[in-house]
Amino acid sequence: MLSTLLSQLAPRHVTLVAVSKTQPVGRIQELYDQGQRIFGENRVQELLEKKPLLPADIEWHLIGHLQTNKVKQVAPFVRMIHSVDSLRLLQEIDQQAGKQGSILDGLLQFHIAQEETKYGLDETEARALLTSADFGQMRHIRICGVMGMASFSDDMALVRSEFRTLRGIFQRLQSDFFADASHFRHISMGMSGDWRIAVEEGSTMVRIGSALFAR
Ligand SMILES: *Cc1c(COP(=O)(O)O)cnc(C)c1O
Repeated sequence: MLSTLLSQLAPRHVTLVAVSKTQPVGRIQELYDQGQRIFGENRVQELLEKKPLLPADIEWHLIGHLQTNKVKQVAPFVRMIHSVDSLRLLQEIDQQAGKQGSILDGLLQFHIAQEETKYGLDETEARALLTSADFGQMRHIRICGVMGMASFSDDMALVRSEFRTLRGIFQRLQSDFFADASHFRHISMGMSGDWRIAVEEGSTMVRIGSALFAR
């Protein structure tokens, strides 16, 4: 499955985040042995338990909601946080990364689905955040793009329109706030059930779990 997936993603320069939540370390190691290096987890505790049992050069991405009090546990090693959805979380990331003298990459998570339970900003909130004096002073967080999850629905027209919405947000934020920032280039969208549509709609990073680990 990995090689089939990569053969479809690579020509379009789409990065694969292998979502390894709930997967035993043995299965993760198998994908690692096949060459996969980027893995995503959605829970801090699970990530902290698995990390020491796996190769040190894995690039860990945190893709799930992150509580501010857990930032310090992941800041030393996590490569990208896909779920940045508040100024308070940004402040904590900036502070923890500052302590270690590093710069952490983050994506702003947007609420694009119809379900109410999902986390994420809307565009107005994101603009307020990006223009705030607090954000202007942060030196240890680098916003590299946007992330979103479409509705869990088999209405593919709906899913497509939600991805298109996220791409629109990305493009407007890019031209209004990041025109000179080449690092602002990621649209993290697409999961097992909808990644093909996400790629058609401009995804640069897909987060795929169940389809990848299925035997
Ligand atoms: C679980 C999860 C995924 C992957 O979902 P699959 O349907 O298993 O591919 C992607 N993104 C987030 C935020 C997740 O929690």
